[in-house]
Amino acid sequence: MRIRSFDADKAILYLVATPIGNLEDITFRAINILKSVDKIYAEDTRNSLVLLNHYGISTHLESYHEFNQELKGEQILKELEEGKKLAIISDAGLPVISDPGFRIAKLAIEKGIAVSTIPGPSAGISALIASGIAPTPFTFYGFLDSKKTKKRKELEDLKHLTNTLIFYEAPHRIVETLELMLEILGNRNICLARELTKSYEEFIRGSISDVLKQLPVKGEIVLIVEGATAELNIDNPLARIDELISLGTKPNDAIKEVAKEINVSKSELYKDYLEYKKK
Ligand code: SAM
Repeated sequence: MRIRSFDADKAILYLVATPIGNLEDITFRAINILKSVDKIYAEDTRNSLVLLNHYGISTHLESYHEFNQELKGEQILKELEEGKKLAIISDAGLPVISDPGFRIAKLAIEKGIAVSTIPGPSAGISALIASGIAPTPFTFYGFLDSKKTKKRKELEDLKHLTNTLIFYEAPHRIVETLELMLEILGNRNICLARELTKSYEEFIRGSISDVLKQLPVKGEIVLIVEGATAELNIDNPLARIDELISLGTKPNDAIKEVAKEINVSKSELYKDYLEYKKK
């Protein structure tokens, strides 16, 4: 489907970036759009009023958050179908990114309505560029599950990925998360970026165990984690099993892991490995 964004007099849904801490981090264009639209939908109207008042934006404001997405979604869609120009903002940074906005953007796109982006800060990318860790390729993960068992599973699924990883995390969970990362991902280099753009902004860079020694910390946190570095020895899976065993993996687990990596049955690989060791 091909949709031009700026056909005059046509409905449009703008996804507008707002500051992640420092009120000055907003574009001229974002301010102009927020002044000119028919209505702004905000994740938390009280929070957004501080920003809107600061810039003298008096556009009508309504809530659109996780818990009223369904109801408000219908209303927003109806208004767009009537030809209105609307903006979505979240509490910080880009809407949609670990914030509401995706559902309504998708619904609007399905109806052939223009959905456009008004760029600006986002905590993950802002932390990445100052982290000193390889910026590309990266995987933006957002929040890991708050339950430890699910978090463990998520990290297991990520552990072979060579991409740099970007996570959001709450300060009261950061120690548990880093301890799990140390156990599952190994002692990788990380950057803990805290309170970005605010007066207490700080970057703690080092190995996971180094950073753990400097915790706890307060405030909003982004974690940038170096990707897996071990080259997959896929050309020689049997040697790869030996490699994993020499790094401390139990033989059965090493076979299971390599079987998964090269997509063969574990029992077959086990037989091959026994033969290989006999030689
Ligand atoms: N939509 C936002 C964005 O584009 O970055 C993210 C919203 S998410 C609900 C909030 C999380 O983003 C926080 O818990 C924290 O992990 C991260 N975050 C937001 N602002 C931050 C800041 N100033 N410094 C560090 N992390 C921040």
